[in-house]
Amino acid sequence: MTRIDLHTHSTVSDGTETPEELVATAAAAGVTTLALTDHDTTGGWDRAAAVLPAGLQLIRGAEFSCVSPDGRGGTVPVHLLGYLFDPAHPAIVDEQVRLRDERSQRLVKMVANLAADGYPIDPDTVFADLPAGTTPGRPHLGQALVRAGIVGSVNEAFAELLHNDSKYYVEKADTPVETAVRMVRDAGGVPVFAHALARKRGRVIETSVLVDLTKEGLGGVEVDHPDHSPEDRATLRGLAGDLGLVVTGSSDYHGSNKTTRIAAETTAPDALEALLAQASGAEPLTG
Ligand code: AMP
Ligand code: ZN
Ligand code: FE
Ligand code: FE
Repeated sequence: MTRIDLHTHSTVSDGTETPEELVATAAAAGVTTLALTDHDTTGGWDRAAAVLPAGLQLIRGAEFSCVSPDGRGGTVPVHLLGYLFDPAHPAIVDEQVRLRDERSQRLVKMVANLAADGYPIDPDTVFADLPAGTTPGRPHLGQALVRAGIVGSVNEAFAELLHNDSKYYVEKADTPVETAVRMVRDAGGVPVFAHALARKRGRVIETSVLVDLTKEGLGGVEVDHPDHSPEDRATLRGLAGDLGLVVTGSSDYHGSNKTTRIAAETTAPDALEALLAQASGAEPLTG
């Protein structure tokens, strides 16, 4: 039996379990292959690798904050998963440093927007508890809103105040997705488009964008994701078949910042094999 989950977050970004705890959670859930894909950082790779138990394979990856053409003449923020790339690749290192800084500045602006409207959040309370190097994200602001008693949960914070169409939302300067696809490939990694049709988060791409990105080197598409409807999964699965893209399925686990359990969605063994066959920037690790 395999249980392959290729998209999870730790406290190195906006998950609630440390990389060590995440590995333990995965092992306890019977996961056989786990990908650690924190936002815009590889900072958890060594920590997860150091505690890998026998029988658990670790795929080191990251989730890149990108901006994509939406296929309708505009743009939309999207996420690109990159697997098994060289973490020392200079373009990736530079871009991840830039994006983490961009994320901090953007959260400070969102805090100011909230404060101006009578939600008294002190930026220090958002960032004070975060270890150096953590990729800050809206869930950290959500936790601060919970601590201040303004909302009851991080989910509620997103629903009412932090979602993409909120008046408090501030954009960040993300990486053009075609640049990120090439960057991941240049570093020997495999780029996979994350939750492409997660409509409940806001506007999404037209699927024609995936056709164009395949020409740039896109290797796969995340089909089975908690935020995808059955209809959208069918559309993406069909398109992946036409384009020769690897189909993945993953939980996008964030610990208690979301309600999804680890391995709630999984990837087929032959899809994992197809991904591994394309990767040369880092090795999958076994405990
Ligand atoms: P950011 O990276 O700062 O733009 O925040 C986006 C992150 O917020 C996503 O990667 C999710 O982890 C998280 N997120 C988005 N929507 C929700 C939600 N409704 N509830 C909890 N977390 C969410
Ligand atoms: Zn996240
Ligand atoms: Fe994402
Ligand atoms: Fe994610």
